[in-house]
Order: sequence, then C-alpha cells, then structure tokens
Amino acid sequence: MFIPGLLWLKVEAVKLYDAHNHLQDEWLLPHLDQIAADLTKAGIAGAVVNGTTPDDWASVSALASRFPWVVPSYGVHPWDCGNRPSDWQGRLESRLATEPRARVGEIGLDRWILDSAKPDDPRLAGLRRAPLAEQKEVFVWQLELAATHNLAASIHCIDAWGALLDTLRQARRPERGFLLHAYAGSPELVRPFADLGAYFSFNGAFLDSKHEQHRNTFKVIPADRLLVETDAPAMPLRSAWRLYNLPARPDTTTVNHPANIAAVYAGLAAFLGLRVDQLATRVEENFNRLFG
Ligand SMILES: [Zn+2]
Repeated sequence: MFIPGLLWLKVEAVKLYDAHNHLQDEWLLPHLDQIAADLTKAGIAGAVVNGTTPDDWASVSALASRFPWVVPSYGVHPWDCGNRPSDWQGRLESRLATEPRARVGEIGLDRWILDSAKPDDPRLAGLRRAPLAEQKEVFVWQLELAATHNLAASIHCIDAWGALLDTLRQARRPERGFLLHAYAGSPELVRPFADLGAYFSFNGAFLDSKHEQHRNTFKVIPADRLLVETDAPAMPLRSAWRLYNLPARPDTTTVNHPANIAAVYAGLAAFLGLRVDQLATRVEENFNRLFG
C-alpha cells in the first residue's frame, strides 16, 4: 500500500518545479503569505504562473517581482478569448518586451466549453464562449509570438486534440518547445505531439482512480519531456493525497493549495516506480530546458 507521507520524507531534500499554476488567482491571494511559506518549506525552485486574460497580467507580474521562483507567463486562455479587450495583442507584446523572464501562456483550444459545458457552469459565468475558429486565430497569434522570441508556450486543450495537432503542425512553433499542461490526450498522440516539441505535465488530479486512463498515458511520455504541475487553485488532488489545505469557496469548490506539488511528485514517482529524487532530477532538467 502506498502512503504519501512516508514517501514525502524522501522529498524534503529535493527541489520542486510546478510547471503550471495560477498563483495570482483571487482564491489564493488572501492566503498568499502562508502559501509562499509552505512552498518555500516544500522546496519550490520554480513555478510557471499563468495569466489568462490581460486583466490578471499585472497580478502575475507583481508575484514575479516578489518571488524569485515565479516564472511569469502571459496569455489569453480559450475561456477568456471571447471577452478579450481590443488592445490585447499590443499589451502582450509589451509584457514580453519589458519583462525578460516572461513566457507565453495560458493559451489553447477548448471544445468542451462549446459542446459539453452546462449553460450555467459557474466557472464560465459572464464569459462569451468563442467559437473554435476564433479560438484558433487567437491561439495561433500567441503561439507564433512565442515562436518569434523562442519562448516556451503553455497550452490548454480540452476535447480538441485533433484540432490542436493540426494547428500546431501548420503554425510556427517555439524552437525550444511548448507545454501541453495536464495532458489528457490519448497515448497514441504522445509521439506526434512530442515530434513537434511538446512537453507533457502530470497533474495531481490524475492520481484519482477516476482519471486512471490519463495517469496511464504518462507511462509512455518520453523521460526528457515529463513535467509536474498543480494548476492550483484548480484541479485539486483527492483529499487522501493532499498535504496542504485551504478554505473551500462559498460554493464548496475545493481550493487546491499550490504546495500540493510535493504530493504530485510523490504520487507520480510511486506510479512510475521511481524514487522521488530520481523523478525530481529528471523534472528539473526538463523544466530548465523548456522554461529556463
Ligand atoms: Zn491553467
């Protein structure tokens, strides 16, 4: 039987990298001092903090000024694509021009918001759900901006894997590669995406048995393309896995504590049959190659 706490004893000395989170989120900000202290204790060495709309880019930037381990990343997320302001492109270009550590993301394609999401899903409240063609245009513009500056791009994809593969094949891509965050595509698509420069990050939610299929896909991810992420405050781990908790939202949604990255390392290492320090060495090399 696997006991996260025991494996965790071995994690303490290693450096941890969260390839994808949203530390600027309003549900984390009231707890920021505690979160930062917990992350430091856990051994955080790098975290890509993803803006999703020009409205939250200043918060991401402020975090990057405050914490040396924050890698600021700026983009228009497919959910925010429909409500983007008219000057979004100039604002993104100026972020990249003035912040040498800036990367590109979160960008991507999402068919779920169009085909499957409920009309009253609270996460999408007030958002105009942009059709796929519009999402694609916004995605490609940002991807090619990342390619021009050879910056890592962080990509979100739900229910649009074929469209994403076609789009990536036709577009200019960053030479250093790009991240498919919380990769939930099929194992058969791993090779074609990897051939285009993809890295794949394992999300802690995949430790839950209901995501066994996504977890198993990580058995075929090339060792030099593997990363680890929380997507905090989203995608919480099952309660048995959590090392850190935060108060739930008023609608009872669980708020994922970013320091649970330590639990994701422990869980993924156990699943892959690696020691945590072996996994950590691999992830550190990959993180620095892509985001460094
Ligand atoms: Zn995200």
